[in-house]
Formats: sequence, structure tokens, C-alpha cells
Amino acid sequence: MNEEDYKKKREQMVAEQIAQRGIADPRVLGAMLAVERQQFMPTQVRHLAYEDYPVDIGHGQTISQPYIVAIMTELLKLDADDKVLEIGTGSGYQAAVLAQIAKEVYTVEIVEALGKSAAATFKKLGYKNIHAKIGDGYEGWPEHAPYDAIIVTAAPEHIPEPLIAQLKPGGRMILPVGPVTSFQYLILVEKHADGTYTQEKLEAVRFVPLKRSL
Ligand code: SAH
Repeated sequence: MNEEDYKKKREQMVAEQIAQRGIADPRVLGAMLAVERQQFMPTQVRHLAYEDYPVDIGHGQTISQPYIVAIMTELLKLDADDKVLEIGTGSGYQAAVLAQIAKEVYTVEIVEALGKSAAATFKKLGYKNIHAKIGDGYEGWPEHAPYDAIIVTAAPEHIPEPLIAQLKPGGRMILPVGPVTSFQYLILVEKHADGTYTQEKLEAVRFVPLKRSL
């Protein structure tokens, strides 16, 4: 497939998998039209870049289904001057989508090979507002806190306290929560001015588990 073929597939993906399913935020649709998802995938699976399911990217990890990337991004209600933290860099695709909309994206990956490969992709594609590190994302990235928004793309069994602490009052966090052996639910957390937070349970999803410690 050449660039034109990928572009057509990408437009079709945004129309059929994203817009038709109710994602209406023009910033999210624009970001998903702009980011070349195939660039974030190993060569042998690139032809699957715009399919409607998660794809194996090696190391037992997956690049999330496009619709899941879109809905999680939309729920964060990002502004152009926001600072966002992502846990679970994986391929780097979700970080790139966030970076189209927000000002700065900080992303943490626990598997060194994946983190390095994503960092190389960000560099190759010229992203200057994505900052990547290897580490245990359960602990967040305290040096750059607080964040306007946090997105977790691997599933913990409970909401990590350090992430709540690193969220700005008025900030939003989206994450899948649940047991590793089954599906999980997307949880939307909103932190209030007094430091307390509320959580809303949304749709059932399937993510790889959030691993603990290096
Ligand atoms: N956002 C990714 C999809 C991630 S899959 C994308 O757009 O491609 C989940 C990722 O979370 C995997 O790469 C996995 O290695 C990583 N992960 C698992 N536990 C983690 C932890 N404790 N800290 C940081 N990353 C973690």
C-alpha cells in the first residue's frame, strides 16, 4: 500500500468507525485524520493499520482499537494549552493523537523495547511536544505534575492513588479498571477543587493489565 491508499483507508476509518459511532469532537476527528497510524506499527502488520480491532505490536502488547483511542481522547475534553500524562506508551499512537490536540504530552512505558521504539517514531515524525520515559506508570511522572488530563492505556485493578495526586483540580482522568482475567470498565475520574474526586463507570473494554514495578 502507498501513502494514498493509507490516506483513503484512514478517511474511511474515521468516517465509519469513529464519526458514525458518535464521536463528534472536531479536534478528535481531526487528530485521527492527521496521525498516520501505520507509522506506529511493525512493518509486518502495517496493512492492518485501519482495521476495527486492536493489533499485536510484539512483547505481548497491542495498539488499541481506533475507536477506543477516539472515545478515551474525547472524554478528556482537551484544550490546546493542556498538559497530558499517558501511562502505557506502547506503539506511541495514542500519544501522537493527544499531541495533535494538547500542548504537551508526557508518556510512560514499562517495557523498555517498546518505549525506545516509540521514542524513535516520535523523533522520526518530528513530534516535539511528546516526552517519553521508561518506568512504572503506576507512579505517574511526578516531576511534571500536575496534569490537566491523564489517560491510562493498560488496566490496573484499582485507580492508582499517585495518578489522582498528580491530576490538577478540575482535571479529568480516563482509565480501564478491572481484574486481569476478564474485561474491565472505562472509568472517568473528575478531580474537584477541594481535592476529592468522583468516578463514572462507562463501557466495558479489554486492555492488557497494568504491570507493577520494574
Ligand atoms: N497507548 C498504546 C496502547 C498501549 S497497550 C498505543 O497507543 O499503542 C498498553 C501498554 O501499557 C503496553 O505497551 C504495556 O507494556 C504498557 N504498560 C503495562 N504496564 C505498565 C506500567 N505499569 N507502566 C507503564 N506502562 C505499562
